[in-house]
Amino acid sequence: MDETKKIKRTKTKIIATLGPSTDNYETIKKLVESGVTVFRINTSHGEPSEHAQRIKMIRDVEKELRKNLPIMIDLQGPKIRVGKIPTPIAINKGEEIILEHTTEIKEGIVPVDYKSISKDVKVGEKILLDDGRIGLRVTKIVGGKVYSIVEHGSLIKPRKGINLPGAQASLEAVTPRDKEYIKFAIEQEADYLALSFVRTAEDVKCAKYYTKAFGDREIPIIAKIEKPQAVENLEEIIVAADAIMVARGDLGIEMSPQEVPIAQKKIIQLTNIHKKPCIVATQMLESMMEEPIPTRAEANDVANAIFDGTDAIMLSGESAAGNYPIEAVQMMATIARTVEKSDFIKTDYDVDLIEELDPVSQAISNSAVNLSKKLKAKAILIFSEEGYTPPIISKLKPSVPIIVVTNSYHTARRLSLFWDIYTYVDKNCNTILDEAMFKSIDKLLIERTWIKEGDNIIIVNSVPKLMSGKINAIRVHKIGEDN
Ligand code: ATP
Ligand code: MG
Ligand code: MG
Repeated sequence: MDETKKIKRTKTKIIATLGPSTDNYETIKKLVESGVTVFRINTSHGEPSEHAQRIKMIRDVEKELRKNLPIMIDLQGPKIRVGKIPTPIAINKGEEIILEHTTEIKEGIVPVDYKSISKDVKVGEKILLDDGRIGLRVTKIVGGKVYSIVEHGSLIKPRKGINLPGAQASLEAVTPRDKEYIKFAIEQEADYLALSFVRTAEDVKCAKYYTKAFGDREIPIIAKIEKPQAVENLEEIIVAADAIMVARGDLGIEMSPQEVPIAQKKIIQLTNIHKKPCIVATQMLESMMEEPIPTRAEANDVANAIFDGTDAIMLSGESAAGNYPIEAVQMMATIARTVEKSDFIKTDYDVDLIEELDPVSQAISNSAVNLSKKLKAKAILIFSEEGYTPPIISKLKPSVPIIVVTNSYHTARRLSLFWDIYTYVDKNCNTILDEAMFKSIDKLLIERTWIKEGDNIIIVNSVPKLMSGKINAIRVHKIGEDN
């Protein structure tokens, strides 16, 4: 039996960030077997050589398990960070802390990787570190040194983020460091690039420009929504990007925590309207960094992101640097499966057409979903070269899974981020649905999926031959029959 058959599916896709806690082949394999469908590499931490090793391991696991595993390379963007201090620095409320732009390790100084820190902040302003866990208040600025008093927090760890909520940091969208990592992503054949601190559609276009300028293939861009400005310009960003991430860590600092739930709902809703995949990220099961079970609030948060209609949920520190990476994935998968079965998930939508997309593909998608429901089919199968129609169908949330058969690994991996889409690469796939083709589909489905002889499936394709974005036919096929 195919290995992938043993993996229990979740409709919601699970993304795991890799890091020191998940740095070997067996662990990465176990993550996939526990439910991970996408891997995230965070370029803010570690060295390119480490990331390259991780990517190699993912590709090897991909071969062994015969699963298409998308790799997302997350670009730091204009984020200010604590330098590479050798050990964490313990701090106390009321204590004085001095920040300075330097790469050296100096007694009594917290090094910062941003040269204009002393110009961008003012006396009386707040500085937040580590997704807001540490709060400092600026007391004076002398010769490049920023003096501050600790308002809350206990430990400054290396490479943690620094937010200057009052200041307008004067950094560009794609930094020179990011450009190097775009080249890296091209070399490594990454499937998605996540762009941090996006403000406008222009920022997304700029990153896209570099992917094309440095390579021959455009890498899909995930815009991380983590600035109030991005929420204001949401629609243009969604249209320009290929996917959206609700990056709640920085969003909760740049806005305030109470604004995040509403922003999350808005972002997911609008992203769904535009048929792009959406990811909810940060602190989903944060306490599982230290404990084998989550808090009730965290379990609720995972569930609510799914109820809000996200395609994917993400683990950050939990899988990168936590003590229970596998347990965290298992927990996410269990919560997802439970929620997905509940009556609170709306399925089988029939939606109005949008202007950006081909009306025929949209109308056929609505009909295919309707038909799959009426006939209690076991799946909707789409042949696709570039993956134009599968997102449209996924966004209708059919109650049956979506299977995509494609001749392209890039398409297969890219589509794997969408809600309830399962992808299979078949180099000989063409959509002339003759007897031989039906035989070969049946073989693939019986061998590699939950589908059995005698099951009905709905096939969406283009006749007379496979043409991207030119879906024009729906058929009902009974597995084992020649038509
Ligand atoms: P971002 O703003 O991009 O989310 P982050 O610092 O919050 O950056 P996450 O990827 O969310 O980073 O991961 C949470 C924590 O896990 C990090 O702060 C870091 O301590 C740890 N971590 C993540 N990836 C790595 C890695 N490759 N090497 C070492 N530690 C890592
Ligand atoms: Mg962030
Ligand atoms: Mg984070």
